[in-house]
Amino acid sequence: MSTARTLVELFEQHPSSADAAFIEGREGLSSYSYAQAWSRAAQVAHMLAARGVNPGDRVALQTPKSSEALIVYLGCLRAGAVLVPLNPGATESELNYLLADASPALVIADPTLAAVRTSLPLMLIDSHLGANALAAIDDQPTTPPPFVPTAHSLAAMVYTSGTTGRPKGAALSHANLTSNALALASEWSFSSSDRLLHLLPMFHVHGLFVATNCAIAGGGSVVLAPRFEVDVVLDQLPSCTVMMGVPTFYTRLLADPRFGADTCRVARVIISGSAPLLASTHVEFETRTGQVILERYGMSETSVLTSNPLHGARKPGTVGPALAGVSVRVVHPATHQLQPVGEIGDIEAAGPNVFNGYWNRPELNATEFTADGFFRTGDVGTIDADGYVTIVGREKDLIITGGLNVYPKEIEEAIDAQPGVASSAVIGVPDADFGEAVVAVVVAIDGVTLDVAGMREALRVVLAAYKVPKRIHVVDALPHNAMGKVEKSKLRNTYA
Ligand code: AMP
Repeated sequence: MSTARTLVELFEQHPSSADAAFIEGREGLSSYSYAQAWSRAAQVAHMLAARGVNPGDRVALQTPKSSEALIVYLGCLRAGAVLVPLNPGATESELNYLLADASPALVIADPTLAAVRTSLPLMLIDSHLGANALAAIDDQPTTPPPFVPTAHSLAAMVYTSGTTGRPKGAALSHANLTSNALALASEWSFSSSDRLLHLLPMFHVHGLFVATNCAIAGGGSVVLAPRFEVDVVLDQLPSCTVMMGVPTFYTRLLADPRFGADTCRVARVIISGSAPLLASTHVEFETRTGQVILERYGMSETSVLTSNPLHGARKPGTVGPALAGVSVRVVHPATHQLQPVGEIGDIEAAGPNVFNGYWNRPELNATEFTADGFFRTGDVGTIDADGYVTIVGREKDLIITGGLNVYPKEIEEAIDAQPGVASSAVIGVPDADFGEAVVAVVVAIDGVTLDVAGMREALRVVLAAYKVPKRIHVVDALPHNAMGKVEKSKLRNTYA
């Protein structure tokens, strides 16, 4: 077992041979062995130093997903620079805000993306060139860079909306990310024989840290494709041992009749996170493939907090117990006392994986952390007698109608169980009478015309009157972000 305390040590202690595959690029992405990736990362680190980037300085990266983006990530780690991954789809005004907040010493960007218009020091890497995108570092030495990060050095800063307001940078140390990588690699039994199918975006913790760092800890390879596509999964998954994804990946796969047990024939575990997996997807996936999806829960500020077990009961609709070394508790929203087993409350977490605070926002430490050092996740949920956590929703998505609390997930599950419904989202909108009114936005299964009045009648039978949506809107699709999360704030604006 690795004793790594930094991501640099984690990479250097990977239990594989130097020429073992690290990145197996697909769909035009390039490939690197462990040794090639590490020496290229050393060259990136020397290039950063030559460009005046000092340890602790931020380096912003806006590129399409590519193997070279992963090399830049490793290069920042080796240089002790703090990587700030940016969504390639971020607009100029979003970037202006993020770059002003992060004040990076260098912006590394693809020539086609908005970050190239920054007035900050800029380096271009053209993702279309594959491995040649990094030709500018060919002359840099491959010797180890002089600075070696410690456990407390910052490794990355990931922008997230957190519980409220504009995006904030979650500042993550080497210790935060390394402890989580080791806990997950052990919990999920990663080894050098693993090949992880990687279809997630790389500007988010799930794709950048959870997937990549688990593979490194085990010494296996990452089969890297630019994006999720059903055809790529049908081609690649049959030779991969692990897949990590968001729930929309799995619902899209199930919508394709070609996907089945044969596609998953060598997969030892299929993992879902970043958004709630419908219990129905869980059940249908098992029926179709024989594989029980392993659902886990985490966030930018903490990486993964809980996971259903690799060996042992995976309970559908739950995100499993806290990982080894991580403490998760549910407290009463008003009294902050521990809730009894099964009672809904605010989820709080502590552990070596939990960040120390938001970048440049010391005033938030008092509100986002408790006096005894737990982070207030902003999620609401329960813990059962076996320690399994169930997420009921985000605190800010809670609906208070006529003074009564309504948890959207309960209503969504009741709606999803109605005939002809593919998916749904329940929101609260301002209402003169009730304070907030419960409103449902529903997507029908292809070819089905929903009877909205009939649905409300059916919901009255299973839900208390105050929980039955006052209005039901049928739409073609719900707005999802890149991680497959339903964007409820957009729905609240639309239906206000
Ligand atoms: P992010 O910081 O973008 O990763 O978003 C984190 C949030 O995603 C969490 O606070 C949860 O609200 C949600 N989330 C992550 N994983 C799950 C899951 N397995 N089930 C339900 N919600 C989840």
